[in-house]
This record gives sequence, structure tokens and C-alpha cells, in this order.
Amino acid sequence: MYIRPFGDRPIAQKVTLVSMLASVVALLLTSLSIFAYEGVADLRAEPGVVATCVYQQDGSLLLYSSTTPMVQRLAGYAGIVFLVMLISTAVTYLLARRLRSLISDPIQNLVDTSRRVSSTHDYSLRASEGSADEIGLLISSYNEMLEQVQQRNHDLERHRDYLDDEVCTRTAELEKAVEELQEEIVQREKAEERVRYLANYDDLTALPNRQRLKERLSEALVEARRNDAMLALLILDLDRFKEINDSLGHGAGDLVLKQVAERLGQCVRSSDSVARPDSANSAHMLSRQGGDEFTILLDKINSAYDASRVCSRILTALEEPFQINGHDVVVGASIGIAVYPHDGDDGETLIKHADTAMYHAKQAGRNDYEYFSDSMKKEALHKLTVEGDLRKAIERNEFVLHYQPKVSSKDGKVCGLEALVRWEHPEQGRIPPDAFIPVAEETGLIVPIGDWVIRAACSQMRAWRDAGLPPVPVAVNVSSRQFRKCNLLETVAESLAEAGLSPRNLVIEVTESIMLQHEEQAVRALTRLKDLGVRVALDDFGTGYSALGYLRRLPLDSIKIDRCFVSELGQNEQSASIVEAVIAMAHGLGLEVVGEGVETEEQAEFLRSHDCDELQGYLFGAPVAGDAIPELFE
Ligand code: C2E
Ligand code: MG
Ligand code: MG
Repeated sequence: MYIRPFGDRPIAQKVTLVSMLASVVALLLTSLSIFAYEGVADLRAEPGVVATCVYQQDGSLLLYSSTTPMVQRLAGYAGIVFLVMLISTAVTYLLARRLRSLISDPIQNLVDTSRRVSSTHDYSLRASEGSADEIGLLISSYNEMLEQVQQRNHDLERHRDYLDDEVCTRTAELEKAVEELQEEIVQREKAEERVRYLANYDDLTALPNRQRLKERLSEALVEARRNDAMLALLILDLDRFKEINDSLGHGAGDLVLKQVAERLGQCVRSSDSVARPDSANSAHMLSRQGGDEFTILLDKINSAYDASRVCSRILTALEEPFQINGHDVVVGASIGIAVYPHDGDDGETLIKHADTAMYHAKQAGRNDYEYFSDSMKKEALHKLTVEGDLRKAIERNEFVLHYQPKVSSKDGKVCGLEALVRWEHPEQGRIPPDAFIPVAEETGLIVPIGDWVIRAACSQMRAWRDAGLPPVPVAVNVSSRQFRKCNLLETVAESLAEAGLSPRNLVIEVTESIMLQHEEQAVRALTRLKDLGVRVALDDFGTGYSALGYLRRLPLDSIKIDRCFVSELGQNEQSASIVEAVIAMAHGLGLEVVGEGVETEEQAEFLRSHDCDELQGYLFGAPVAGDAIPELFE
């Protein structure tokens, strides 16, 4: 077992105690030895010690002695020893104190320094160094250690500062990255939301789009089938919206569409009354199909007649002019109605039939509504067949040109020819242009057909020239749709060049319908044709667009008075007045006049007497095939 003789006393006390103990022990030992020695010596020297000596009978010797003097001397010695011991203890104590301060002061200094260092964490503190003994060495080692700790602490602080900076920088970077990420997430969510929105809604009017309508329509049809209910699909197309776009610009057009959407929205909302009274959740839906076309789904109607009430309300609502950039703009609409289950039992069929009905409403004079009917269905089917056959006809080259002469009213000589297309159908025989040109125009097939007509007319002219016929100009009819294709000028120029003809030999006949849409485009295209040297005639004058202002804007050479006026000459005074006025007006504008559809000598005479420049009609010759033309000149 470990023995701790001085407990937990400080070293200094221990040193003092040990020294004092040592001095006491030394003194005791010294005193004892002195006592021993002195005692024996004194016993021998002291006369009073052996006092009496008696011999006993048995021969033994009995010694008597008094111890008093010896005790007294010993007491004297003991006193001296005690005194010496006291003095030596005092000296030892003083020496020990000194010794203690020599040892413990530096150690205390070390302890104090350590305490201050640990309480203040100030590693720049140093214990004061004194002697070069072991404690001095200990202090300097301690100071060196402090030095190292200070250095290490300094390094640590620098490192900590660096780490702090680094953490701050990284944290800032991280925060920025998190912010950017959040921003990106928000942007992405917005973009996704936008994509979802655009997939289902129209950006301009914020109405559901075609896609959304299809979905809603099929849902409504499922519901209608289940409940044995009726629903109506309305397709609405604005009348002459292109005129607004062309005259006021597309920005104004967009404003019109927005305002129309709002008005239609009101009409559809207020049309809830047409729904069955028991259908609290009837959901009519207005959507935009694109362009100027809107659809209205009337869910759960009582009868097909309900749809017409909504249509009337819409047409009345549209009568009020729209305020667009300071202009009063009036927009009409043509509406087609298809009713489930009568007109189809799937969404696609209903849309198709409502569309067909809408076209009928347009053709019937616009700003009206029309129900889809069986005759329309037949007509639509017929158009579809004609379109298919026309495509084949273009591939198989089933078209031929017939030519009708125009004669000069002065000398009666042939002064021009008009090329008129015919379709030699493999099964139906010859088909007149009126039977297929409208379908060709609707489907855009008029463009390849028209190109072919121009090329064929030019090459026929070449053939006649080569056969020695007099050089009379040939007119071709060009539909408004061809003007929207930019290659008309190229086709004309190429065809003339290929046939080696001067552009003066070609007359382009256009109808007033080219002014209905894309007026500027038409005027530009005609001007380019005129610049090329081609002549331009306005066909069927008086039948269509009744504004005369365009006569000044179009770069024309002549106008052709429509057959409907000519045929009534001699029977109808008004027609005669119109013909007279048209001739005078055309001459006033520096244009030549052609009378069309002249069938009688009386009509010819009237036209001649009113200075009509050229005459055309069965009276002078019906349209005939190209190879019959030479006879005409003979
Ligand atoms: P259009 O250009 O006004 O041609 C005159 C039409 O009146 C021709 O009918 C002609 O046969 C007919 N016609 C001429 N004289 C008389 C007459 O005295 N009495 C009667 N009743 N009719 C007469 P067609 O050939 O049937 O052409 C009809 C229309 O088809 C043309 O009217 C023209 O607008 C269009 N058309 C003809 N060929 C083409 C073509 O190649 N391209 C285009 N885009 N349209 C064409
Ligand atoms: Mg014509
Ligand atoms: Mg005509």
C-alpha cells in the first residue's frame, strides 16, 4: 500500500517538516550517544557512585551505591540537550523556510502562471525564470511549452479564421446556389404551368383551346349518352375578320378577338336558361378553335331549338360595334350548329358537321346561323369525292382547255380568246368548271390546276403561231387563291419564256373576289404582272363586291361586263342603264370594256352603239377545243 506520510501538504511544508524531523532525529541520536558515553565515564569517575561493598556469607559481594549525583548530572545534560534541540529546531525551521522559499516560490510562480493561462487562455504569459537549477529548467521548459502552445494556438486561430472565412464563403455560395435552385424550381414550375396552360388554353383570349374542347366534348358525350340527353356544338366564324386585320392591323384584330371572346362569354353564361331546369351542373363551354373561329358547347339542352336561341343572342350581342383604337368596328358571325344525337354521336363528327353548317351559313350571306342537315352532309361528301378525284385528275392530267373568241365591236374580227378549263372525267365525262372550280378553290387544288392552265394556254398559243395564225392575245382566268401563292408571277414568266411569247399576248382575268381578302397582296401581285407586260382584265364585273373604289386601286386594262347584265339588254331598262354607265365609267378610267355572254344580235347592237370595245358570247362562238380555233380565223 502506498503510504503518504505527510498527506496532501504542500512540498514546502513537507520539506520543512522533513528537515526539522531530520534535525530532531540527529539531535536525539547525538544526545543519546553523549549520554551513553558520559554515563559510563561518570560512573567510573564519580567517587560517590560506589559507596559500600559487603561480602556475604555465601561468598557473594553486595555493592551499594547512591545514584543521586548521576541523576542530577543527567538532568543537567538533558536540559542542555533540550536547549540545543530548541535552538537547532529554530535554526532548522529558519533554514527550512529559506529552503522552502527557494523551492516553492518558483513552483508557486509556475502554478500561478498556469492558473492565469488556464483562466485567461492567454498563452503569451510566461512564468518568470530565476535560477538555472532543476526548477529553473522546469520553468523554462514550461515557458517553451507555453511558447509552442501559443504558436499552436496562433496557428489554430489562423486556421480557425481561415475555416470561418471558408465556411462563410461556402455558406454564402451554398445559400446563393439554394436561392438559384429555388428560383430555377419556381421558373420551371412556371414554365410547366405555362406549357400545361398553353396545351389547354388559348393565349390571346384565355379561353379553352381546341384540345380542351375535344376533351370536354367527349366527357359531355359520355354524360349525354348515360342520361339520354341532347347537346349542341356551335362553331362560330367571324365574318370579314380579315378585312379588319388588313385595314387596322393585326394588333387591332387581336383586340377584336379578345372583345368578341368576352361578349360570347356573356352570351354563353346567360344561356344557362336553355339548359334543363334539373341540370344544376350544366357546363356550357366557350373555346377558341384558332384564328377567328370559336366553338360553344351547349351541354344538356332541351331541344335543338335551344341552340338557335343562343345563336340569336350571340348575333344580337355582336351587332353593337367594338371600340378598337378609336374606330367603331362591327363584326358579324356565321354559326354552324350540330346537335347530338341527330348529327353525329362522336366529337369528331359533331365538329365536322358544325363546321359544314358554318360554311353554309357563310355562303348563304353571312351573319346568320344554320343547322347541319342531311343535304349538307351529302354536299360535304360530294365535295370530299370531288376533291379526291381532282387530286387524281391533276396526277393523270385530265384537264383540257377550250377557247372562246372575243370579237372587236368595230370590225367583228377575232381580237382575242379566253381559255376555259374543262375536266375530262374518266367516268363522268366532261365536267364544266363551275362544278369543280369552287371545290378546287376551297381545297387549294386550284393552284396546281391554275398553273397548268397558264402553261397549257401559252404552249397552245405557241402552236397557233407556229401554224401561222394571227397573234391574238389569250386570256386565262386566275382565282384569288392563286394570288396568295407567291409563285404566280414566276409561273407566268416561265410559261411565256418557254413558249417564246411576249407578255402582251397574255391577259389575266381576275374577279372582284380578289379584293375581298388580302387586298394589298392582290394589288402588289397584279402590279408585278403589269410590270412584266401582262394585261389584266376584271371579269364578271358588277356581280360581286359592289364598292367601286377598288377600280382605281387595281392596275387594270379592261373590265368585262357580266353576262347577267348583257342577257337582259333589250328586256330590262335598268340593266341597259347599268351597262351604259359601266361603259362610260370604264372609259372614263381609261379602261377597255368587254361585253360577256352576248347571245343575240340585239345585245351586240346595244353594246356596239354604246362603244363597248369587245364582244364575247355564243353569238360569235362558244368555247371550242384548241385545234378548232384555226377554222375560226378562216
Ligand atoms: P368566265 O370567266 O366568266 O367565263 C365565261 C363563261 O361564260 C364560260 O363558262 C363560258 O362558256 C360562258 N359563256 C360564254 N358565252 C356565253 C353565252 O353567250 N351564254 C352563256 N350562257 N354562257 C356563255 P364556263 O366555261 O363554264 O366557265 C365558267 C366559269 O368558270 C368562268 O367564267 C370562270 O370564272 C371559271 N373558269 C373557267 N376556266 C377557269 C380556269 O381555268 N381557272 C379559273 N380559276 N376559273 C375558270
Ligand atoms: Mg373569264
Ligand atoms: Mg365572266
